[in-house]
Amino acid sequence: MNTSELETLIRTILSEQLASANVKSSTGVHGVFATPGEAIDAAHQAFQRYQQCPLKTRSAIISAMRSELASHLAMLAEESASETGMGNKEDKLLKNKAALDNTPGIEDLTTTALTGDGGMVLFEYSPFGVIGSVAPSTNPTETIINNSISMLAAGNSIYFSPHPGAKNVSLKLISMIEDIAFRSTGIHNLAVTVNEPTFEATQLMMAHPKIALLAITGGPGIVMMGLKSGKKVVGAGAGNPPCIVDETADIVKAAEDIINGASFDYNLPCIAEKSLIVVESVTDRLMQQMQLFGAVQITGKDVDKLRAVCVIDGLANKKLVGKSPVTILRTADLPIPAKIPRLLIAEVKGDDPLVICEQLMPVLPVVRVKDFDAALTLALQVEQGLHHTAIMHSQNVSRLNFAARTLQTSIFVKNGPSYAGIGVGGEGFTTFTIATPTGEGTTSARTFARSRRCVLTNGFSIR
Ligand code: NAD
Repeated sequence: MNTSELETLIRTILSEQLASANVKSSTGVHGVFATPGEAIDAAHQAFQRYQQCPLKTRSAIISAMRSELASHLAMLAEESASETGMGNKEDKLLKNKAALDNTPGIEDLTTTALTGDGGMVLFEYSPFGVIGSVAPSTNPTETIINNSISMLAAGNSIYFSPHPGAKNVSLKLISMIEDIAFRSTGIHNLAVTVNEPTFEATQLMMAHPKIALLAITGGPGIVMMGLKSGKKVVGAGAGNPPCIVDETADIVKAAEDIINGASFDYNLPCIAEKSLIVVESVTDRLMQQMQLFGAVQITGKDVDKLRAVCVIDGLANKKLVGKSPVTILRTADLPIPAKIPRLLIAEVKGDDPLVICEQLMPVLPVVRVKDFDAALTLALQVEQGLHHTAIMHSQNVSRLNFAARTLQTSIFVKNGPSYAGIGVGGEGFTTFTIATPTGEGTTSARTFARSRRCVLTNGFSIR
């Protein structure tokens, strides 16, 4: 046996011994524990061992996730749609694939160095510890895949608080990730959760001293709860993305992009077009073109019927969130066309509840405005300072630039469907955690890492 073979053998034996010791100390099964306290303690022990591993160990987990989860994505998409009763399995599969294939790994953690007569300064990204990650019901599996890759790449372990409404599929996925991480590292409990992920469990998690960082992906209530915890929070909150179309836009392309974006997963993504603000000279043409691409226009008194079922007391009717256009038409007691519609559109005023409320339904209110200035003014009101997402179709570069600068959204998509802003059919990496109120924007591994400075005095400058 040569030296290299001997080294491999010793490594294998050590890894097996560590693994079996870890199994014995673990009370959770496949990362699922009875209480948040037990789960967080186990994840903290896992972090302490993971912290000593080389970067290639982190890469090994991510490579294994990318290859081993691929064949399960369709099942996860189907179970996610059926358990939550929201969205559709085809689009959920696309979202799962984007999360798995296009979330950056350790390459996101770039090191920078300063050198001079006084020596050398290194700035490096290092882990926080155990991250408490709250996932929404609207994107359950894609958020867990995306956050797992980002957070494990940054060297953390993770306690997940999945949405109770997506409990079964989330627990199944977290267990799969924990198994993959264990097989790649010999460390158990790098990804954990509890068997009953209740709101109370989330509250306990947020108060737990061993949670080093909170990453909260959800509506305003849960993000606010995290912000009150006293911990550092990466808060990915609600949005209400307006889409502006001016008279210079390529109307055919705009119509197709808007339908694709606003109908994607029945409008569940927080980045999806939630209202359309169109300069009056092209409004009719755009709406006609959208109908050619599969939209159905609701008019007259039928708009009142549609509004009455979609928005109740100023809030989205939870029973219709993420439902298909046919279900929404049926609930509103409106006729169902022979050709299955992809999106419902209705012309309304700028202050209509359909415009102001984040509906998360394939219902797109259309507002006709005098000119670009009026469109931008209304878009600012509709976005409500959430700093989330806006979309604009125009060939006028100055206007595109001015709108992006004025709206100050974390994502601004020019001449494309909204999902191009999260790396689906557009340039850039994918994320399903867009940190809006706290300002980190489209998150990746470096968002979940601490920036640290390491100084060597009087050395290592070779200039
Ligand atoms: P939600 O706020 O109902 O739930 C989000 C998570 O918070 C869930 O895990 C839920 O269990 C938990 N939660 C909610 N209220 C809680 C409470 N009082 N105590 C403890 N835990 C609580 O959101 P949802 O309906 O699942 O998701 C839709 C919302 O999330 C939309 O507003 C959408 O815009 C937003 N969202 C934002 C992003 C982003 O990246 N910015 C991504 C996805 C969804």
